[in-house]
Formats: sequence, structure tokens, C-alpha cells
Amino acid sequence: MKTGDASYIKQLNRKILIKEIIKNRSLSRSDLARITGLNKATVSSQVNDFIEEQIVIEEFDNKSNNRGRRPIILKINGMAGYSIGIDIDANHISVLFMNLNGKTFEKFSVEVQFDDLIQATKHLIDHLTPLVEKFNSIYHPVKLIGITVGIHGIVNDKEEIIFTPKQEWSNYDIKSQLEQAFHTKVYVDNNANLSVFAEQVFEDPMANLFCITLYSGIGLGIISENEIYRGYQGFAGEIGHMVVESNGLACPCGNKGCWELYASERALAEALNISSCKTSLENAILLPENKDILNEYLHYLAIGLNNIINIFNPEKIILNGAIIHGHFSLITEMTKRLHSKMNSYREIRLSKLGEYSCVLGGAAFALKNFYEIDTINFSAYGYFGE
Ligand SMILES: [Zn+2]
Repeated sequence: MKTGDASYIKQLNRKILIKEIIKNRSLSRSDLARITGLNKATVSSQVNDFIEEQIVIEEFDNKSNNRGRRPIILKINGMAGYSIGIDIDANHISVLFMNLNGKTFEKFSVEVQFDDLIQATKHLIDHLTPLVEKFNSIYHPVKLIGITVGIHGIVNDKEEIIFTPKQEWSNYDIKSQLEQAFHTKVYVDNNANLSVFAEQVFEDPMANLFCITLYSGIGLGIISENEIYRGYQGFAGEIGHMVVESNGLACPCGNKGCWELYASERALAEALNISSCKTSLENAILLPENKDILNEYLHYLAIGLNNIINIFNPEKIILNGAIIHGHFSLITEMTKRLHSKMNSYREIRLSKLGEYSCVLGGAAFALKNFYEIDTINFSAYGYFGE
């Protein structure tokens, strides 16, 4: 065998092993050999490398009931490093810090109004610089491993922002700016893509998954055979601009009657004549005098869902929105409106990740790339409860 082949196989084994250590939370070297089918010598040599790099730790299993010698288990060393997820919208920035174990240790959201992305990026760098300095001294030796930015618009496969419907944010290279400021890898993606990715990482490790985000606009994130589905230029999933009303309301995208003008939470807030904050929306939908407006909202929500179901025949669809969060009765009300005999899906469920799904997905995406694995699975850690 040539040396090139040997190092290639070593890389491959490394990926297989780290993926299983993450997925299983804690396991012994012999468990790892059994699960992966790799021989014990290979497992041991690779695990020793991980321990030397300090990304894996070995400790006695305190939970073991075995009398006599307590078994030694392997775990990811959460304290070795961290990633950052960022969500930039027209009027807010959310940031989340995640350790190498997928656990969030700091998050915040600020309401800010930016005219342009240059201004927003500058604000972000000023705000993050002291935090990165602080966390680099706590989470080491690996420190910051990467940042992912979620944008509410179209991002192409070169991670360039192509179009943001509410602002003129294209043609600004936020990726390079952040890379220069923090000397780390930076990824840029669409917010709905990162949201569905978060669902796959933390809740539903399925190879095919659909998540609809209902906030100021509507986005559809699609995971197809474990890959985020982007389409030809990155425009896939711009489902908010699917026409549901011919000759309907005019949309900034240039069309008329787009779905998000009727079924986004912003549209509901406008119909109710209130601000789109969660509390005011929740209070308003409970009032009997708003019943007709709520019914119309659910009617439009169901039209779009019906179309999505007919196109994709999805096994599972996850809905993520501020008001739908915690109101399962709204889903029941809406599914009653899915009349087509062709409608075929197994489950529609509410997201447990809520408005932080984009930053969770972003931080987890940077982790996946750091470990160089195709999927990353923290669903056994129970970070989001039952
Ligand atoms: Zn539109």
C-alpha cells in the first residue's frame, strides 16, 4: 500500500470514530471498536491522537453499576473549543456560543436597526471582540473553531449574498470581514437552511427533513439525503414567494400574492394592527373579536403547506414560529384545512428550538466542518428537553 493511501484511510477512520464519539455521548474504546467495526489497535491509536489534541477526554464511568473496576469512557472535551452562530435580520442580531459538545454556553439577541450590512458587521465585530478574547482563554487549546452567519435572503454556493428582500445587502463580503477580524473559518448561509440543519442535529437525525420558519418572512429549509438542498443557485426554499393569491398584494420581490404576505407572523401582526412581538401576538390571537383574522391566517398557512406536501411528500415537517411555539391547537386547526386526498405526510410538529434555531444551526454547522464529518448528531444529549 502506498503512504498516500495509508494517510487517506487514517483520515477516514478518524472521521468515523469522532462521529460515533459525538453521537453516543460517552462510550468505551471497545464499544467504539464494536460499533465501527474497526480493530482495537486502530481505535486506540486514533483515540490517543484525539486525547493528545485534547478534543476527547477519558474518564472513569461513574454511572456504571459494575462491581470491581469501573470502566473507562471517552467523551468529547466540551471545554477545548467553541463555535459561534450569528443571525442577522433587518432589526435584530442574535448570537450564540456553543462548545465542542454542542452545548450552548452564551446567547443574546439585540434589537437594532441597520441601514446596511457594513454598519451591522462593524457593530458585530466591536461587540464580539472582547467576548472572543474572554472565551478563548476559557475554551482552549482549540479556542474558536468557526463562525456561521445566517442571512434572511439568498446566499449562493460561493457564500455570497445574492438578494435580501427587505434590504440591499448583496455585494458585501461579510465572510472576509469576519475572517479577518477573528482569524477563523466563517460560513454564510440562508437562515432557513441553518434552521432545518439545527433540527437534524439536535432533534431529528433524519436523512430527509423539512422545516418552515414563520417570522418576518417564510422560509423552507430542506435536508435531502443528509445535505442542505440549495437548488441551482441557492434559491431553493424561497417558499415565502410562492404565489397563493392571483392579483394579490404586491411583494418587494416583484410578484403579487406571495405566501408570506398572508401567512408570515409579520402579516398576522399587520392584520391585527399590532407589533409583531411574541407577547402581543399571543394575547391578540386569544381574543374572540380576532377569530376571523386568525381563521384567515390559518387558511393561508394551510394553502402553502398543502402545496409543499404535494411537491415533496415529506415524512416530517417542522413548523417554527413565535406564536405557533407552544400553541399546538393551531396546528390541529390548520391540519383540518388540509383537505386533499393526495396529502401525504407522517407528521407535522412544532419546533422546540424556537427563534434560536438559526444560530443553533449556524454554530453546529461550524462544528460539523471542524470535525470534517458529513452529519453531526447531538440528539442524545437532551439539550432541549422532551
Ligand atoms: Zn414575493
